[in-house]
Amino acid sequence: MTQRTALYPGTFDPMTLGHLDIMKRASRLCDKLVIAVAINRDKKPLFDLDERVEMVEHVVAPFREYIDVEVKPFEGLLIHFVEQCGASMIVRGLRAVSDFEYEFQMAGMNDRLNPDIETVFLMADPRYQTIASRLVKEIARLGGDVSQFVTPEVEQRLKDKL
Ligand code: ADP
Repeated sequence: MTQRTALYPGTFDPMTLGHLDIMKRASRLCDKLVIAVAINRDKKPLFDLDERVEMVEHVVAPFREYIDVEVKPFEGLLIHFVEQCGASMIVRGLRAVSDFEYEFQMAGMNDRLNPDIETVFLMADPRYQTIASRLVKEIARLGGDVSQFVTPEVEQRLKDKL
């Protein structure tokens, strides 16, 4: 049987409990999960690429007991990276209507570029529905408590950084 590889791309600046939930659920849909950490120079991330990869590596370590997981940085056209990784699906999390338009367009364009690659949307868990990396950074910067949005490891990294 062919191995089913899924790729979950994101900036993960920083990784939140919402991302973690999508990773967990995606890991049940495939034989191999590639988490693609976007270099994303334009977004000027707070955490550099190595830090963002480390944060993801930290949480996915336990998944390796039951699934093949790789955490890889990427730059350039997503669909090319998906092809390079031999993945057949792109996983995205969908929070609210605000995510929809952008994600709908992206999925449509990617489908035109390579119709063999399917974009799979996982609805955000209601517990994590409102969590966004951008807001987590803002709350942390202003001295707020972000412990209900991120792992203790990420919380510590935010404290050290800000
Ligand atoms: P990007 O720069 O690709 O938007 P993000 O790291 O912000 O990168 O998000 C990566 C993916 O995770 C996107 O599909 C996004 O919709 C999803 N996501 C982000 N936050 C959550 C959350 N709280 N619950 C579910 N999915 C989420």
